[in-house]
Amino acid sequence: MDVIVGAGLAGLIAAHAWPNARIIEASDKPRDAHKALLRFRSEAVSQLTGIEFRKVCVRKGVWSGERNGFVEPSIRMSNLYSSKVLGGRLVGDRSIWSVEAVERFVAPENIYSQLLAAVGSRISWGEKFDFKACSSANVVSTAPLHTTARSFGLSFQSRFERQAISVRRWRISGADLFQTIYFPEPSTPIYRASITGDILIAELQGPAGEDVLHTLSRAFGIDLRRAESLGEAEQAYGKIAPIDDDERKRLLFELTTQFGVFSLGRFACWRNILLDDVVRDIGVIKRLVKSTSQAYDVRRAIN
Ligand SMILES: Cc1cc2nc3c(=O)[nH]c(=O)nc-3n(C[C@H](O)[C@H](O)[C@H](O)COP(=O)(O)OP(=O)(O)OC[C@H]3O[C@@H](n4cnc5c(N)ncnc54)[C@H](O)[C@@H]3O)c2cc1C
Repeated sequence: MDVIVGAGLAGLIAAHAWPNARIIEASDKPRDAHKALLRFRSEAVSQLTGIEFRKVCVRKGVWSGERNGFVEPSIRMSNLYSSKVLGGRLVGDRSIWSVEAVERFVAPENIYSQLLAAVGSRISWGEKFDFKACSSANVVSTAPLHTTARSFGLSFQSRFERQAISVRRWRISGADLFQTIYFPEPSTPIYRASITGDILIAELQGPAGEDVLHTLSRAFGIDLRRAESLGEAEQAYGKIAPIDDDERKRLLFELTTQFGVFSLGRFACWRNILLDDVVRDIGVIKRLVKSTSQAYDVRRAIN
């Protein structure tokens, strides 16, 4: 691989798999953009990057302000949650249905700096990669699918809808907990809050009002008045809404077979994947690059 476009988490992880690739990043300096929850389903990222993860058991629940307590997942709660996180869109099978305890892996708080320290010398900051000018290189792109497709003049009908979220974080002195609570009802802007170790992360649709800490205290059963605030941030690509899958696959296929661009990561593939999936997809791309009958294999890999 010659070039990796983007030095977000996917690009930095990919840089470990292709130790000779240059990384081109449009932002002029490092930006630890991911302030939302970050947990892993496996140790794949840890094994690729050499960063040690901790295995934990995560407990989950669904909070109802109306009932003033925890409730079982239900069709009503699922629909409220979908509408809340996707700005009115109703999409089934949201994560809210799975509230059983799960095994997860958590990265150290400074994972971004550790990734940067390992591959930072190969990053060109403040350079917008010009896809059209670089037709002879093998490129892994983590840039959003529609912007990459547009830069090659590929046509599409789908509307790539996203919703910004805001994230508030606190440190809870002495805590060592791994818990997530969903808040599907519209009465609070919080839609999910998680404690990872001693960090409480609330993800919200819209700004946090005065009562947010009170809601979190009630739901978690923890007096949070003395929790240390770690600030508020906005994530522009907080939630992405699905697009037509045939069109999505066509764009991925054409980018690879016509232009040698391999899409990697949540926004590049426009699919709600986790970073564990990025490691799996790196393996797929490596096989495709080696493959001689590339077009046939690409079609099989993205199906
Ligand atoms: C709310 C939320 C919760 C999440 N929870 C988890 C979780 O628990 N576990 C997990 O594994 N994942 C989770 N994720 C997913 C994970 O955070 C994302 O997959 C990841 O942050 C996306 O990183 P990325 O590198 O793919 O994209 P980005 O961070 O968007 O990076 C793409 C980079 O490409 C650059 N770029 C774009 N165009 C160009 C160009 N032409 N030239 C040069 N540079 C360019 C951009 O500046 C950007 O820096 C979550 C995501 C969100 C939003």
